[in-house]
Amino acid sequence: MNRLLKPTEGPLKSAFISYKWYALLLCCLVLLISLSWSRLISPSVRSAESDIPLRIQTPFDSQMSEPLKPSVYMSMFPDASTVPAAPANDPISTTATATATSAPVASEAVQQQQPQHIPVLNYHSITIDPGNRAVITPAKFEEQMLYLSKNGYHTLTLQQFIDYMDGTTTSLPKKPVLLTFDDGYADNYEHALPLLKQLNFHATLFVSPGTTEDGYFLNWDQIKEMHEAGWDIQPHGMTHPHLPKLSAKSQAFEISEAKRQIDEQLKINTTVFCYPFGEKNETTLKLLQEHGFRYAFTIDQGLASRDQNRLLLKRLFVNGEESIEPWIARLEQGSVKVKS
Ligand SMILES: [Zn+2]
Repeated sequence: MNRLLKPTEGPLKSAFISYKWYALLLCCLVLLISLSWSRLISPSVRSAESDIPLRIQTPFDSQMSEPLKPSVYMSMFPDASTVPAAPANDPISTTATATATSAPVASEAVQQQQPQHIPVLNYHSITIDPGNRAVITPAKFEEQMLYLSKNGYHTLTLQQFIDYMDGTTTSLPKKPVLLTFDDGYADNYEHALPLLKQLNFHATLFVSPGTTEDGYFLNWDQIKEMHEAGWDIQPHGMTHPHLPKLSAKSQAFEISEAKRQIDEQLKINTTVFCYPFGEKNETTLKLLQEHGFRYAFTIDQGLASRDQNRLLLKRLFVNGEESIEPWIARLEQGSVKVKS
């Protein structure tokens, strides 16, 4: 009995050795299959996953993002030699609260445990202009707004955004998103104002006061109506210039005069800037701080977060030529990506 139970001798011994070889062979096969899978299959999966953030980070031609009529921004205020005195300085490090339109804060505010990355959508013109990716059709724009509404997104007021970035509040509505519109196209009044009002959405508009008499852009009556409807209005340069190409004196005029006119027209204190064409240099940043600006938006692609320089906040460009799927993919980054 004892011999039969010990497979170390006789026929049982050889059978056991064969069994070991089979087991070894099986292990090798399993290993080979695993390696093949990781080398042949996984790369395609990984590239599909990384495709979205890669596309977000891809720089795009700033000129194409701005469908401004060249005749408008090239001829306005050619002589900026009379620079108004700068208002009292308000360094970026101060904790003064920026003035923005106060609108009802969503009651669904929830406490966030970790700093959030907030999608700041960057729209321009809303009309039909095939081939211009900075322009979105009214139908596509409505499709995107309805997607936000149906999927539980909450559009932030600029004040809510600032309070969160300042750290004066740690609560945000669920699935926050900030809607921004650059340049102040007249079609925003026609296609965005009624729809956003209907959906009870908030939005921020960056305008260049030097364009308000053009007819192609919003006039002051329209801007005031949008402001009264809850839109936050902030400056985008006086004449939508290429700021880095200007002297410090001319840059100061573009920044301060745009602020002065909006503040005067709307009886507010603007403190958030948006760089025309996304262009800025060290002088621009210094001047913004000197003139009381506390935040500024770029066209650098990505989600906005507290760990960014306050004057270099990122946004998500809305490509009007794309279908809604890639737009959703960019947007959804905000609901899953948190600072670790
Ligand atoms: Zn612009």
